[in-house]
Amino acid sequence: MEKTYLNNDVIKQIKGFNRLKLTEKQNLLIDKLISNENLKTCYKMYGLCKKCHQPNTSYDWCQLCNAKYFQQDFKNWTSGNNDIDEFIRKAQLRAKIKNEVIEWIEYDKFERVEYLAEGGFGTTFKANWKNGYIIYRDLVRNRWERSESVPVALKCLHNSQDITVEFLRKVRNFSIFFLFFFQLFIISNFFFLFFFSV
Ligand SMILES: [Zn+2]
Repeated sequence: MEKTYLNNDVIKQIKGFNRLKLTEKQNLLIDKLISNENLKTCYKMYGLCKKCHQPNTSYDWCQLCNAKYFQQDFKNWTSGNNDIDEFIRKAQLRAKIKNEVIEWIEYDKFERVEYLAEGGFGTTFKANWKNGYIIYRDLVRNRWERSESVPVALKCLHNSQDITVEFLRKVRNFSIFFLFFFQLFIISNFFFLFFFSV
């Protein structure tokens, strides 16, 4: 199987390069050292992670390192539903880019919640998400850097006790397709989905 990580010897040889201004010689060396096309593209586009020195998987994002930060936090939240917890955990571990992250958000992280309309399968509200979505990991402060307050649409689902992972998968695919991203939270047995655009 082809290697999906750079070994220490390769990292040592390319660590000092400026990936945005590679000389012809450096380019040839990289072609020789990194046979995995995906790793090579990631290195050239996003550079090496400052912590583990593997190629970032997107701008300011290292999947390897960020998965560890998410994992450390698993014990600090729960939706109260195992399937949903598992769905969110998997999304966090697999996120190669900030837009693929799903989080569990408690209701008190919202302000100015206002009723908008009654819809086919739920009630819609608008609100402000106080902290905002994750942008990148701040290695110095050892915390997620967030977007700050963002307007969001909240959808309170009727029959939310019947929510399934299959349903969540569809919502996620839909939201990624339309460049909207969804998160989840719960209040007195109702699941809310909320959407925000980036
Ligand atoms: Zn890393």
